[in-house]
Formats: sequence, C-alpha cells, structure tokens
Amino acid sequence: MELKKKIWVVLMIPTMMVAAMNKEAKIYVAGHNGLVGSALVRHFEREGYTNIVTRSFTDLDLRNQSDVHQFFQQERPEYVFLAAAKVGGILANATYPASFLYDNLAIELNVIHAAYRSGVKKLLFLGSSCIYPRNCPQPIKEDYLLTSELEKTNEAYAIAKIAGLKLCEAYNRQYGTRFISVMPTNLYGPHDNFDLQVSHVIPALLRKFVEAKRAGNPEVTVWGTGAPYREFLYVDDLADACVFLMNNYDGDEIVNIGTGTDCTIAELASVIKKEVGYKGTIVFDASKPDGTPRKLLNVEKLFSLGWQPAVSLESGLQKTMAWCTTNAVFEQE
Ligand code: GDP
Repeated sequence: MELKKKIWVVLMIPTMMVAAMNKEAKIYVAGHNGLVGSALVRHFEREGYTNIVTRSFTDLDLRNQSDVHQFFQQERPEYVFLAAAKVGGILANATYPASFLYDNLAIELNVIHAAYRSGVKKLLFLGSSCIYPRNCPQPIKEDYLLTSELEKTNEAYAIAKIAGLKLCEAYNRQYGTRFISVMPTNLYGPHDNFDLQVSHVIPALLRKFVEAKRAGNPEVTVWGTGAPYREFLYVDDLADACVFLMNNYDGDEIVNIGTGTDCTIAELASVIKKEVGYKGTIVFDASKPDGTPRKLLNVEKLFSLGWQPAVSLESGLQKTMAWCTTNAVFEQE
C-alpha cells in the first residue's frame, strides 16, 4: 500500500470502529421515569435489548455520592445514558435556580465519576439547547458554545449542563474514557410534566386547551408575546438519535439533536388549539417572560452522520394527547 493511503486508513479507523452495543449489553438508563429516560427504555424494549438497568429515585438518589458509587460497583453497567436531571420550564427555572444548579451538578459529578471508576465502556450525557448564548447566530452550531452571555431565565440549568459536558470532555482527555455529550432541542411527549407551574410550553398548552374546551371557557392565555421561536422534537425521536449516536459516534465534540425547523409560540398555540379542537380565542399575557428570542439548532453534524427525525409536530402532539388520555393526565389536579 502506498504511504498516503496507509495514513488515510489509519486515520479513518477510530470513526469506523465505533463498537455498537449488542442486545445483551448491560445498559443503565439514569432517570428512567422521566421524559427522556422513559423514551429510552421504550426504545430498548421495542428493539429487543434484554439487560436494561434502572433505579427509581426512592431506591437511588443520584445526588448521593457514596450511594451512586456503590450502585456502580455492584451493577457494573457497560453503557450509561445519563438522562437524570432536574428539569422545568421558564417559571420553574427562574423560581428554583439553586435547586437546578445543585441537583444537576451533583447528579453529573456522581454519575460521571462513578462511570469512570467502574470502567463503563461508554456514556452518553444529555445536555440541552439552553447551554448556548442567548443571542448567538441561528441556527446554532455546536461551536457557538461559550462565545457570549447566557439567557438569564435558565442560566442555572445551563451552567450545570455546561459543567456536565465539560466533565465528559475532561475525563476523556485525562482518563481516556469514551463519554459523549448530546444537546437536544426543546422536547415533548409521554411522561412529560403537565403541572402548569413547572412545565414547558407544550404540556402547559395541551393542558390549558383541553381544560378550556371541557369547561367551555372562551379564552386560553398563552404566556409572553407569542413572538419567540422554538424548535420541538418528539422524545421518541430523541431516544432514537441517542442510541444512534451511542452506536455510531465517538467524537469529543458535542452533537446537537433537533429537527432543523422551528415555529413561533403563537404558531405552536394555533397548532395545539387545532389538534385539541378548541374553538375559543387565544390571548397573550405579555407580563410573563418570553425567554430567549430563538434557539434553533444547527443539526448538520447529526444529519451528516446519517440520522433524521421521523415524527412531525402534529403527529407528536397526537401521540402525546393519546398518552395523556390513557393515563388520565388531565383528570389529575
Ligand atoms: P424555554 O424554551 O426554556 O423558554 O422554556 P418553556 O418551554 O417554558 O417556554 C417556551 C416559551 O413558551 C416561552 O417564550 C414562554 O413564555 C412560552 N409560553 C407560553 N405559554 C406558556 C405556558 O403556559 N407555559 C410555559 N412554560 N411557557 C409558555
């Protein structure tokens, strides 16, 4: 083989040789009762994975360092999906910044360090699109991270998530681990939080429109001006992308996960109104915060690796509503 060709082959090997998880691999899904974790478990069940490890919050508090280390030493998972986090919408983030910072930092420190110490083969860390600066160019490329100031309404959560992805990077560099980080856009789907005080916009609006329709209320109030843009990804698509990246990506750089398209909150409200079949009027409460004006992710890196989303916003909303009906979500206070 001529020298140039040889060098090329050697350079290509690391990316071509990403070992995929086999169906018997021991996989720990941290946060399996949440929006993302439950979607991952659904994915693994559907695809015939047989050795999924989970622990509910009452059995293992991931903020407790010694418990987390003991759990990893006992179970010795081969792969970890770190989907456990304290999450919430714009109001929850603004109201509980200390909890968002403390809980998320503690979970990340404990799980990432224990994964390293127990010799986990590969870990996938779930970040968030709110790690990017408030006013960065759109769509947001991965390398815009830490180029200017963050959005104030979710700064605590963003700082914790940035620390998490930097931990993964640092462990890879210092200890040679294989910890990858992905940054999902705004998510929605089954097992979301539908409590109006802490929820994100989609579960909040689903609840508001369903309840207004039932009660025959003439108006539904949407927070803010309706002008901000948001990108929404159905959580089963996210789970699919995470498993795809676990099996096909070994780089140190973070990877955005999204759809590549967004809409205004006013447009989203109209779509939800239509899907719910509500006939009243939408009013905007501009005294509530808008948050960041836009956060559309650039998904070129993910798409060029060979992944695309499958679920449209309308279809995802229908699936979410069907799950709410089955689980009587709107009957609960
Ligand atoms: P963000 O993406 O971090 O800002 O989180 P959210 O999903 O909480 O909010 C997204 C946008 O939807 C913001 O501009 C909110 O003001 C707007 N929004 C409109 N109505 C609601 C609502 O009832 N609940 C929430 N959480 N957001 C709403």
